[in-house]
Amino acid sequence: MLIQFTEEQKMLRDMAREFTKNEIAPRDKWMDENGFDWELCKKIQAAGFMGANIPEQYGGGGGGIVDTTIIAQEFARGSASVATFMGGQWLASNLILENGTDEQRQQYLPLACSGKIFAFGLTEANAGSDAAGIKSLAVETKDGWVLNGSKAWITNSGVADYYIILAMTDPDQGTSGISAFIVPKEAKGLAIGKFEEKMGVRGSATCELAFDNIKLPKEALLGVRGKGFKMAMQTLDIGRISASAVCAGISDHALQLAKAYANERKAFGKPIKAFQGVAFRFADMYAEIKAMELLAYDAATTKDAGLRCSQDAAAAKLFATERGIQICLQAQAVFGGNGMSKEYDIERLVRDIRVWSVMEGSTEILRMIVSGGVLASK
Ligand SMILES: Cc1cc2nc3c(=O)[nH]c(=O)nc-3n(C[C@H](O)[C@H](O)[C@H](O)COP(=O)(O)OP(=O)(O)OC[C@H]3O[C@@H](n4cnc5c(N)ncnc54)[C@H](O)[C@@H]3O)c2cc1C
Repeated sequence: MLIQFTEEQKMLRDMAREFTKNEIAPRDKWMDENGFDWELCKKIQAAGFMGANIPEQYGGGGGGIVDTTIIAQEFARGSASVATFMGGQWLASNLILENGTDEQRQQYLPLACSGKIFAFGLTEANAGSDAAGIKSLAVETKDGWVLNGSKAWITNSGVADYYIILAMTDPDQGTSGISAFIVPKEAKGLAIGKFEEKMGVRGSATCELAFDNIKLPKEALLGVRGKGFKMAMQTLDIGRISASAVCAGISDHALQLAKAYANERKAFGKPIKAFQGVAFRFADMYAEIKAMELLAYDAATTKDAGLRCSQDAAAAKLFATERGIQICLQAQAVFGGNGMSKEYDIERLVRDIRVWSVMEGSTEILRMIVSGGVLASK
């Protein structure tokens, strides 16, 4: 591998791999059928993964983006749903880490490390790709803020303890009029809709949120007024790196399932792996998974070095989500008719990977970011 992990990162990878094998993978089918798994969540909280991205002074693992990318990839080998859950947690807590006041960091980051669940709420029913078009409104009062509006498709909603909500504070100022707020689940006026019946990552919780005159203290404003949109976009870079590693993890899982099947299944008196038409699928899958990993860890290393990575993070996610869908289809094809059956895990992976080309920026939006960067560069 081009990017060499440190000894600590190798230990983290092995730990995450072991945890995935023993705890996560055995629960994935159950989550697909039943939804969020609180028992597994408690084990993840106890194992300390929730705060892997938070400095040690707040009780976290002190890891950088490479570290969370490692965990995301390993967890995704066992469950795309769990990787989705972790992504929501890290996105939201990272917003506090990078933008919060000292008091906010001291108040919330130890909670994130101890297992409190966080969610990141930007999307609204009429503003997804066009995130600047959000209509949720926070009005300043003498005591703090009053929040009205709604959100849609928010990962970890319904299970989260805290929501980072993006809302307009100065609607006439466009994206410079958007700010972020920390909203506890107990806030009066916060209504949480029913869990979405999703096609994939069904073990992750996703709901709509409605805000009816929620009164928030002044300290609920996260970071600087008017900087919410910029903060959200910077945090999405991290989310996109993680997403690309997740797709590498799901794709590798699909390859492994197909490999076992190709060894076992016989046709024309031979294991099907003996046919070049089947075997060549594995060459393509392997090459593309390697490329996904390289793009993901390259962008993660750039981010950890404190350099701008928006274009590379978007490129990594664009490649990983689009090729990941094709890899899962290739793997499914190896199973023939059985690939269509819910009795085989490959069927679930095909549904799970599809969702990643929508979350955290659709394919088209990522193409806009990457092509914009490429064409503007000298
Ligand atoms: C499982 C899941 C979890 C999610 N979790 C979160 C979360 O935790 N927090 C959060 O804030 N959001 C979350 N989202 C929302 C997600 O980020 C949005 O769904 C996504 O940004 C797309 O927005 P949209 O659904 O409104 O689609 P739209 O913006 O309506 O897009 C519809 C289609 O039009 C295309 N399109 C739109 N504009 C353009 C353009 N200018 N050029 C070309 N094509 C365009 C899109 O690519 C897409 O194919 C989640 C979504 C899902 C499915």
